[in-house]
Amino acid sequence: VRYVRFNPNAGRSIKQLFQYLESPSPDAKGKGKSAGKGMERLQDAVYPVPQGKYFLDPHLDDVLLAFPGNTTWWLKDDWYENGGIILQDKASCMPAKVLMEGWRDGEGECIDATAAPGNKTSYISALMHNKGKLYAFERSPNRFKTLERMLQKAHCKNVDAQRADFLESDPRDELYGNVTRILLDPSCSGSGIVNRLDYLLEDDVVEETDAKAERLEKLAAFQLQMIQHAFKFTAAKRIVYSTCSIHAEEDERVVLSALKSGIAKERGWALAPRDSVIPSWERRGRPEEMGGDDDLAQGVIRCLPEDKTNGFFVACFVRDDPTGLRPS
Ligand code: SAM
Repeated sequence: VRYVRFNPNAGRSIKQLFQYLESPSPDAKGKGKSAGKGMERLQDAVYPVPQGKYFLDPHLDDVLLAFPGNTTWWLKDDWYENGGIILQDKASCMPAKVLMEGWRDGEGECIDATAAPGNKTSYISALMHNKGKLYAFERSPNRFKTLERMLQKAHCKNVDAQRADFLESDPRDELYGNVTRILLDPSCSGSGIVNRLDYLLEDDVVEETDAKAERLEKLAAFQLQMIQHAFKFTAAKRIVYSTCSIHAEEDERVVLSALKSGIAKERGWALAPRDSVIPSWERRGRPEEMGGDDDLAQGVIRCLPEDKTNGFFVACFVRDDPTGLRPS
């Protein structure tokens, strides 16, 4: 299966995309009623997706289209060239969707702490209706350039991208005083990636020469540090942590350590329950990696290639009344 995300920021509607895909394609001589793709939209998900057909993904049904695995219709296509569609794995769409659950324009501002190449940034931007402010941090100079290109192509007008280390940002800076939601999709081992389409692997947290256990340990320490830093933002009330790793060391165990840390207790952070974290997604966390607590494990999402996605992990931290906790 090949996934394509519709991007409303480019100014066209998803109905127009359906029309384009479903209108008859011109015949061999270039004649035809209209220059569409002649595809048929299925009402239900079918795997493998039959040739000439597509469907709206049941978990991301407002934006994500599923095509047969060998599909390439977007090559040199205007919808792709103009950013109206973005090639993005299904699992990689989930963090932004979970982050923006219940969002209303005017609620506040958002941060994408680890943004390049920018697939999740552009989806958050779209979920904010390209309004308000989304601060995007990216530490690597090369990857920052990719991020800038991506944001331009995706017509993101509400993103303030900075080539900066998120860990060096000041959570008490007035600039971030209205930030209510933060996405953390930090460097990870990438052990879940089957289809590398939307990832650029340039890991600067670990060295090639590190042994596997040592690499995971370093990554987990860094990931925990990122979550704890995010916990300090004064108005934040929803933080999503995601990895494209299948290792519990980077997933459930990092989340558990974060929840147990002093800063989580001090600032009132808890794990969001399943009902606000794509409840219809069946594969949840591993309780044995979360101190045997099944409720905690139900709160987090795991994805595996057998779910027709890359291996992936998503967790969401929440708190009720951040404003009451602001330092006076
Ligand atoms: N969210 C991105 C997307 O969906 O397109 C992918 C993010 S990738 C897994 C992690 C990114 O975080 C890398 O580009 C890395 O350079 C960046 N990064 C790592 N540590 C960072 C830090 N402390 N501050 C800002 N960016 C960081």
